[in-house]
Amino acid sequence: MERTAVLEQFDVDKVREDFPILTRTVNGKPLVYLDNGATTQKPKQVIDAIVNYYTQLNSNVHRGVHHLSQIATDAFEATRRKLRPFIKAAHEHEIILTKGTTESINLVASCYGKAFVKTGDEIIISAMEHHSNIVPWQILCEERGAVLHVVPINDAGELDMDAYRSLLNERTKMVAITYVSNALGTINPVKEIIALAHDAGASVLLDAAQAIQHLSIDVQALDVDFLAFSGHKMYGPTGIGVLYGKEKWLNAMPPYQSGGEMIKEVAFAQTTYNDLPFKFEAGTPNIEAGICLAHAIDYISALGLDNIAAYEHDLLEYATQQLLTIPSLRVVGTAREKSSVISFLLDGAHPYDVGVILDKLGIAVRTGHHCTQPLMDRFCIPGTVRASIALYNTKEDIDTLVAGVQRAAAMLL
Ligand code: PLP
Repeated sequence: MERTAVLEQFDVDKVREDFPILTRTVNGKPLVYLDNGATTQKPKQVIDAIVNYYTQLNSNVHRGVHHLSQIATDAFEATRRKLRPFIKAAHEHEIILTKGTTESINLVASCYGKAFVKTGDEIIISAMEHHSNIVPWQILCEERGAVLHVVPINDAGELDMDAYRSLLNERTKMVAITYVSNALGTINPVKEIIALAHDAGASVLLDAAQAIQHLSIDVQALDVDFLAFSGHKMYGPTGIGVLYGKEKWLNAMPPYQSGGEMIKEVAFAQTTYNDLPFKFEAGTPNIEAGICLAHAIDYISALGLDNIAAYEHDLLEYATQQLLTIPSLRVVGTAREKSSVISFLLDGAHPYDVGVILDKLGIAVRTGHHCTQPLMDRFCIPGTVRASIALYNTKEDIDTLVAGVQRAAAMLL
């Protein structure tokens, strides 16, 4: 469908009716929620599913013969079934349910690291990674005597692909890169990144925490080895996330945590591990969140990720245009390919102070380093003000933000 037709058909008023929290006030003003990169609000379809879980299904999964345990298990596994086509994985058992992106990345760093990384090997990350995609690799490198390399970025916040090419070599074991930068909005050329890594014999983990809710992802077309994302950033509950991994890697990796569920048989002499995906799912999972994530996937799928992306992109362009009318405002992150994140600074004002003034006006934005301290160091700034746009935001939200920033500028500069 033509972009203009998509925009005309996207009924944001109807979408907003699904999100009860959007009708509340904050500090006496209507809430304008622009902190979606941190977490999204939940539609009533997800909230109702949570209530339904505790009133109709609550029971432990994969264990009981009784009715409740069986229907809870079916509902929990239905999410895995839904996730497979959502990311176009070849097999359901390649989908591991975790606590979130952070746990998914830690799992790979730990288990892939144990199986495949040895002294002198190299891991590549980028200058725009979230701390969750830096620290696990630092720890792995320290433990294994491996070397961490960082792909630099240009002033627009785009990866230096020539530098990336020159870092790859036969010692590179893993390239761990964010699909979309949470602080800058940059969409990285992941297909090319993956192909180049594979040519060098390295695996790739994509941090899709900021991509899964904006872009349709096909893990097979990308040929990515691992993909990590969180439920709470895609209109689902907190405490649930996903690790997709190619079967061949997951089978070759040792378990992450141990205990119940991940075993086939336990004897004091020896324990055998369960098959995929349960080998990586020790202990009682977050059952409620696992079940209710399916409703978030249904919600996104009904609207269509391409329609969502077109609508959000239109808002991003509008927000960028409008914010740039403020003389002292500077946008940080001006990549050609951007998702709906806009980071900015008012020259002469600390981002925290801008955030506090916006909060008084009922506008929720994120201020600070956004868990990307090395990236802030790269730009020689303490942090930014970040407005991150979701499918329920409107041009009126952007107008309110712009008026708020103008007010902050008048007060602080
Ligand atoms: N990676 C990126 C790019 C993120 O934006 C975030 C959260 O903001 C994370 C990882 C960590 O996600 P979580 O806290 O849900 O594990």
